[in-house]
Amino acid sequence: MAEVETRLLIGGQRVAGTATALDVENPFSETTVGSVGSASPEQLDAAIAAARGAFRGWERTPAVERAELLHEVARRLRDRTDELAGLMSAEGGKPRIENADEVGWTAAAFDYYAEIGRDSAGRVIPSIEATQLALVLKDALGVVGCIVPWNYPLLLLGWKLAPALAAGNTTVCKPSELTPLSTLAIGECFDHLPAGVVNLVAGAGETGAALSSDSRVDAVAFTGSVETGKKVAAACIDRMARMNLEMGGKDPFIVCSDVAARIDVAARGGAWAAFLNAGQVCTSAERFYVMEDVYDDYLQAFVDHTKTLVVGDPMDAATDVGPMISAAQREKVERQVEAAVSAGAELVAGGDRAGQASGHFYSPAVVTGLPPETDLLREETFGPVAPIVPVSSLDEAIALANGTKFGLGANVYTQDLRTILRCMREIKSGTVWFNDPLTDNDAGPFGGFKQSGMGRELGREGIEAFQETKHVHIETEIEVKDWWYPYGGGGPADGAGA
Ligand code: NAD
Repeated sequence: MAEVETRLLIGGQRVAGTATALDVENPFSETTVGSVGSASPEQLDAAIAAARGAFRGWERTPAVERAELLHEVARRLRDRTDELAGLMSAEGGKPRIENADEVGWTAAAFDYYAEIGRDSAGRVIPSIEATQLALVLKDALGVVGCIVPWNYPLLLLGWKLAPALAAGNTTVCKPSELTPLSTLAIGECFDHLPAGVVNLVAGAGETGAALSSDSRVDAVAFTGSVETGKKVAAACIDRMARMNLEMGGKDPFIVCSDVAARIDVAARGGAWAAFLNAGQVCTSAERFYVMEDVYDDYLQAFVDHTKTLVVGDPMDAATDVGPMISAAQREKVERQVEAAVSAGAELVAGGDRAGQASGHFYSPAVVTGLPPETDLLREETFGPVAPIVPVSSLDEAIALANGTKFGLGANVYTQDLRTILRCMREIKSGTVWFNDPLTDNDAGPFGGFKQSGMGRELGREGIEAFQETKHVHIETEIEVKDWWYPYGGGGPADGAGA
């Protein structure tokens, strides 16, 4: 692995963080990969000041020039795919193949928004009179704080940074304290941008809180837990700063009777949706609702497939499922599963520490016979656990799917058009995937209903989150309007423009 970059990027300069050191643990070997100094209050202040200072110039840079610069970010990211994927596996435990994909998707977000930014200045609207021009302009907001979790450190940064920059904003970005290295490593991908347009700081919750509450930060784009998202929202609302919040989920996965002949495919799709990145995806399938008449076959196929998954070293190309991010995250998952089992559920596959000598492993688990009130069916798990529940009708499946405080994503396996129409209209979630779990599309908005979030990333909505809308009304004539005072008539006539 190339030497690990541990310095922050502030105003175009690399500086070592001078506050508390964050020791970054490799979740597989449980050894330290690197130690990053957090940004001190003075360094965070300097980063925000640098972003403020760079704003006017960047906002005025023609969109076509900004587009070229963002395409260059994408090229630089792609050129470093191997190195970044290795670093991301070392600090995050995700299989290397998934991290290589993540680098590609991050680059794609920069390419997408480079072009969307060229076509997002606003629109002309019909004016009230023929002598007028009426416009809707889309202004940049100013300085955007980007706060990111550990599960997709570069992708979730890219989904914020690319549209924020394309819209003409400058940024201060804070990765998770668990995975700062890949973010600091991509600093040089922004070397060709004016200094201060992208600033990268490191730190834990206090740094995120200071960034969210700083009056010079005009908007905060946040991805993380509901609990933290509410704190960010409270910090922003005090000064009416804009916010885009992507939070937790408890995604349902419905399997309908009409897929009986392809039940093995629906089982493999379900296992991938539940166990990808060791279940640490905001849109992980966390509740399976399977029609009774296909339930036994589905469960059998799911368990059989789960038992074939290779759990191990994320750097090994044969590994399907790597370790979880931390001992604390694994314990949370273990507690949820144990509570369900104590209340009568049955663990029918996995759910142990996978017999590994080191690493925060939790082998992909399948749980059945769950009492409806168990947290495993109601609270976010964020681990490789698939609770599978039989249902007797589509009504019941949809009601259960909608029965939590979350609404991020949902999956349905069916080819019946009437079922597709009902599910797409009645399921309350930001995305509904049919027969192709968890596939993102840069042009498709991503985000949540209910407590899963506010606002959207990706698509046109993803750039609008970083724009302020301005109505411009231009009258080309200087003349008195006949609806002005005096209402009684008899005022001095103004011949101007007549
Ligand atoms: P987290 O909420 O603990 O941390 C997220 C980020 O917020 C980190 O950078 C953290 O340092 C920072 N932070 C902590 N306290 C803060 C505060 N008071 N003010 C500002 N920032 C603060 O989340 P996590 O454990 O890193 O990530 C897992 C969570 O993220 C899960 O709940 C998951 O569902 C969610 N997630 C959501 C999406 C989505 O798009 N909806 C995507 C991925 C992950």
